[in-house]
Amino acid sequence: MNRRSLTFRLVAWYCALLFLLGVGFAAYTYTDFDRYVRTSTKATLVARADTIRDIAGTALDDRAALAPLIEQRFAPELRARFIRVIVNGQVAYMSGPPTEHEFDPSIIPLPTTVKTPRLERFSRLIVYVRSYKLADGRVLTVETGEATGMMRAVEKGLAVAMLFGLPVLLILAAGGGYVLVRRALTPVESMIKAAEALTFNSPHNRLPPTGTGDRIEALGQALNRMLERLDNAYQHASRFSADAAHEIGTPLSIMRGEMELLATRRDLPPDVLAALGSTLDEAVRLSQIVENLMALSRLESIAGKRTHKAVDLTALADETIDQMRLLAEDKNIRLDGPSGRSVVVLGDRNRLKQVLVNLFDNAVKYTPSGGRVSVAVEAAGTNAVLTVADTGIGIAPEHQQLIFDRFFRVAADRGESGAGLGLAIVKSICVAHGGRVSVNSTPGQGSRFCVELPLASAADLGEGRAAPPATPPCAPRMIDRLVPAGRII
Ligand code: ADP
Repeated sequence: MNRRSLTFRLVAWYCALLFLLGVGFAAYTYTDFDRYVRTSTKATLVARADTIRDIAGTALDDRAALAPLIEQRFAPELRARFIRVIVNGQVAYMSGPPTEHEFDPSIIPLPTTVKTPRLERFSRLIVYVRSYKLADGRVLTVETGEATGMMRAVEKGLAVAMLFGLPVLLILAAGGGYVLVRRALTPVESMIKAAEALTFNSPHNRLPPTGTGDRIEALGQALNRMLERLDNAYQHASRFSADAAHEIGTPLSIMRGEMELLATRRDLPPDVLAALGSTLDEAVRLSQIVENLMALSRLESIAGKRTHKAVDLTALADETIDQMRLLAEDKNIRLDGPSGRSVVVLGDRNRLKQVLVNLFDNAVKYTPSGGRVSVAVEAAGTNAVLTVADTGIGIAPEHQQLIFDRFFRVAADRGESGAGLGLAIVKSICVAHGGRVSVNSTPGQGSRFCVELPLASAADLGEGRAAPPATPPCAPRMIDRLVPAGRII
C-alpha cells in the first residue's frame, strides 16, 4: 500500500485513534478494577473487624474460649485469613499460617498505637487495623487480613488479556478498515479508469454512474456536467474555426485567382510584377495555412469511424513515395521505400496519405543534399508501425515534444516554407485513428518519426492475418518520447 494513498492514511489514522482509545480504555479498566477490589476488600475487612470486636467482647476474660469462637466463625487458616486480637498490648489471639501458605503471618509486626483505623499492605497480604475503647476502659485492637494472591492473579490476568488483546484488535481493525475503505473507494477507482479512457476519439463518453447515492456519485455527476459543458464549448470553438477558415478561404481563392490573372499581363512595369509575385506567394502561403486549419478542424470534428476502411499502409507508402520522388531527386536525396508484405489498418485513406506526405515532405525539407530518407512499414504486436527516417539536421531534445503543437516551428529563420501545422495535422490524424506519433532525433545526425496505428483485426477484414514480429520496432528507441494519444492539440 502506497504510504501517501488515501486508503493508507485513513487506515493509519483510524488505527492510531483506535490504539489511543484502546490504551485509554485498558488503563481505565485496570485502575477501576483495582480500586473496586481495594474498596470491596476494605469493606469486608472493616465488617469482619467489627464482628471480631463483638465476639472478643463476650470472651475477653476467657481467652481459651476466644480462639474456638473466632476459628469457628472465620476459619482463618483454611480460608487464608489473618486475625490478631490484642487487649491492652497483650496478644489475646492470633491465627496460624494458612494451610496453602498464601502468606507468612509472622512477618506482620505488632501494631503500635492505632489512633485511626488503617489499611496496611504486606507481601501477599492486606491488613486492616482498628482499636476499640471498651466500656471498662481497656483497649481492644483487632487486625484482620486477607491474602491478596487471588486479587493479584485476577489483575494480572486482566493486564495480560489487554496487552495481547489490544494488538489483535488493532490488526483486525486495520484489516477490516482496509477492506471497508477499498470498498468505499471502488467507485472512485472506476471513475479514474473511465476518466483515463476519455480521449479525443470518445468525446461523448462520460463517467459511469456509481449508484452509491453519496457525495462520490454527486462528484461523478458534477464532473459529467462539466465534461458536457467542455464538450459543447469545444464543439463550438471547432465549428467557429472551421467556419472562419471557410469564410477566409473563399475570398483568398478569389484574390489568388485575380492576382494570377494580373501576373500574366505583360504590359505591367517590372517592379509592379515583382510586388505582385511576392504578394501572390504570400497569398498561396496563407491559403495553405487556411487549408491546413480547415483540415485540423475537420479532423477534430470527426464523429466516430464512419469513413474508416481497410487501407494497405505499405502500398499507400509506395504510391506516395513514387509521387514525391521528384522532390527528393531535386535535392539529390536518396530515397528508400518500404519493402515487404502488406500491413493493413482501418482508416481514412486520404488522411493517412496526408500523414505520409507531411512526414516525407519534412524529411526532404530538413535533410541537406546528398542525404538519405527511408520509409518503412511493419506490423508489431497489434500495431502497424510506419517509420520515416532521415539523415537531416535533427531536432534539439527540448523541441521534440513541442513540434507537434500547432504553429510551432523550431527556427523560422531557416528559410523553409511552412507554418508549423504539418506535424499538428499528423498527430491529429493519428489520434483520430486511435494511434500515436513519436519522434527520436539527434541534432546533426537525423530524425526518425514513428507512427503507430492499430492493425485491422481479422474480424475487421473478415479473414485471418499473419502473426506479427516479436519485437515492436518503435518500442526500444521511442519509449521515452511517446506523445500521449489522448492529448488534444
Ligand atoms: P512546418 O510545416 O513549418 O515544417 P511542421 O509542423 O511540419 O511545420 O514541423 C514543425 C517543426 O518541426 C519544423 O519547424 C521543423 O523545425 C521541425 N521538423 C519537422 N520535421 C523535421 C525533420 N524531419 N527534421 C528536422 N526538423 C524537423
